[in-house]
Amino acid sequence: MNKLDAQRQKEIQQAEELLFAGPQAVGFAKGLFQGHFVADWVMPYPRIPAAQQIELDETLRELRQFLDEHLDPAEIDRQADIPREVIDGLGRVGVLGMTAPKEYGGRGFSQMANCKVLEEIGRRCASTSVFVNAHHSIGIRALLLFGTHEQKQQWLPKLSSGEQLGSFALTEKEAGSDAANVQMQARPSEDGSHFILNGEKRYITNAAIAHELTVMARTPVPGSDKTAITAFLVTPDMPGFEILEARMPKMGIRGTATGRFALHDVKVPKENILGTMGKGLKVALTVLDFGRTTFGACCTGAAKTCLELAVQHANTRKQFNKTLGNFELVKKKIARITADAYAMEAMTTVTASLIDRGLEDYMIETAMLKVFTTERLWECINDVFQIYGGSAYFVDLPLERMMRDARINQIGEGANEVLTSFIALVGMRGPGMEFKEIYDTMMKPSRDRMSKAWAAGKNRLGATIRVPDVPVQSDELRAHARQLGRLIWRFNVAVNRALITYREPILDMQLVQERIANAAMDLFASTCVLSRLDSEIQFARRNGDAAPPDHSAADLFLRQSFRRIRGFLGALTDNEDKSVLAAAKSSLAKPPS
Ligand SMILES: Cc1cc2nc3c(=O)[nH]c(=O)nc-3n(C[C@H](O)[C@H](O)[C@H](O)COP(=O)(O)OP(=O)(O)OC[C@H]3O[C@@H](n4cnc5c(N)ncnc54)[C@H](O)[C@@H]3O)c2cc1C
Repeated sequence: MNKLDAQRQKEIQQAEELLFAGPQAVGFAKGLFQGHFVADWVMPYPRIPAAQQIELDETLRELRQFLDEHLDPAEIDRQADIPREVIDGLGRVGVLGMTAPKEYGGRGFSQMANCKVLEEIGRRCASTSVFVNAHHSIGIRALLLFGTHEQKQQWLPKLSSGEQLGSFALTEKEAGSDAANVQMQARPSEDGSHFILNGEKRYITNAAIAHELTVMARTPVPGSDKTAITAFLVTPDMPGFEILEARMPKMGIRGTATGRFALHDVKVPKENILGTMGKGLKVALTVLDFGRTTFGACCTGAAKTCLELAVQHANTRKQFNKTLGNFELVKKKIARITADAYAMEAMTTVTASLIDRGLEDYMIETAMLKVFTTERLWECINDVFQIYGGSAYFVDLPLERMMRDARINQIGEGANEVLTSFIALVGMRGPGMEFKEIYDTMMKPSRDRMSKAWAAGKNRLGATIRVPDVPVQSDELRAHARQLGRLIWRFNVAVNRALITYREPILDMQLVQERIANAAMDLFASTCVLSRLDSEIQFARRNGDAAPPDHSAADLFLRQSFRRIRGFLGALTDNEDKSVLAAAKSSLAKPPS
């Protein structure tokens, strides 16, 4: 086996182990790739239960008051620090332990409610929202999800109140996007009572201010010469823990402390393992699912700020004797921000509800949410920047800071390119396996294979002859619902065609994967928007409201999204990929002059 094949085998083995642990309910995204509309996960639009909504409203009121009085995002950016009073205040409001169970000092909020809290913070200050995410969404998440009762009892109360802070340490020099390539070593002691950790981590948010760090390191696999990743709970008071750089100077989210640290023969008790030994990669990826969900919420908040700023300026700044809002090219930008902010909120809410409702595998949905919202937010900021013209460039307005802050979103917690490829490949795995079954049976028929191939063939064929039903309740949305159903059908046909045409090489064809992932993301976003709008119309009707809710943002989003989907699918056969690859090859081969 050559080196490339061996690497591919390793990747496939890792993916199999991580993603396909056993039989699971088909989620929304996996359903899409099979040509189905799994309505139960997305319709009706999820709502926070009334009792928790009351608690959430009270928390949001308290949070807003605290942030109005104490949060100064410009000063945080200038000083490159979030004042301790702000962290303490967030702790008092409950933000730092929002989803931790009440018995461990948390607020016991659902992900949906937590996302509303993060949206509020993301609306005001990206440094603060990233800090909260680093502590709560990912820093203490492994403890929350995989910790034993004893571990939770010992650590969570102080972490939930904010008296202590958490951090999540996966990234290393050689393990960035390639997270499985962690090199930090954890060697068991001879008596088996502890592990001895050695190595370095970099780009870790909260590293130098955290009291508890979830650290990924390699442990030996018993009975073999292999190693696997294990999650450890490490504290900075352990001898051998060294902060190499507490606050790496950086362009945006400057208030966060992004650091580097080294572990030199650090003894970590075996009781500090989080989850199962050797299953740390699964722990890390599950933790990141939560981070990506609150990423969506923070981006939604920031997009709403973009809208507010855009409207304010467009209604006041005059040129050519008119306010800017009179010009169609300004209107177009404002309309798009409005539509995108509506969609981002809907998508965040639906994704968070999947976690709350106990869907086992929501990896594709959280990846779609992360990529979609971070890309849309970047566009929103770019648009509002343009509307402000020269004034946006100066530091007395928040726009240059917002732009600097937002740039990390497309890179952190999984670079968007890596996640785009992941969405397409994991999504296509289901139909791909069915085609493989059919192909293998044709090549080597057997009785056992025939029945499996027959089932696979029926499934594939069924999806290609049936346009899925998108069940909306409001008559005025039936045309949109029918269009969405047809696009899902077209998407399924396109996925099938790509799998049949390219077979295994599709694993490396990222230009094809990108179009498939982009179409899937817009299908998911449109579904969330349609579901939200349907529920708003129904709610207004039940309330006896005289005027129907304003549909314009949702309507625009659906039209633009449907157009994009048609474009992505069309480009699968009408593209200039060969030229793209040739031009890249030529440049990559040239030695730098
Ligand atoms: C401010 C900040 C805070 C951070 N906080 C944390 C933290 O708290 N904890 C933590 O563990 N990590 C943290 N990180 C690390 C972050 O998650 C990584 O930077 C990210 O995963 C990318 O890794 P990398 O920087 O090594 O980039 P690389 O892996 O070198 O990738 C560089 C670029 O190459 C491209 N690329 C890479 N692989 C592929 C591929 N397979 N296909 C196509 N394109 C590809 C992408 O465009 C990518 O952006 C933080 C980073 C920053 C900048």
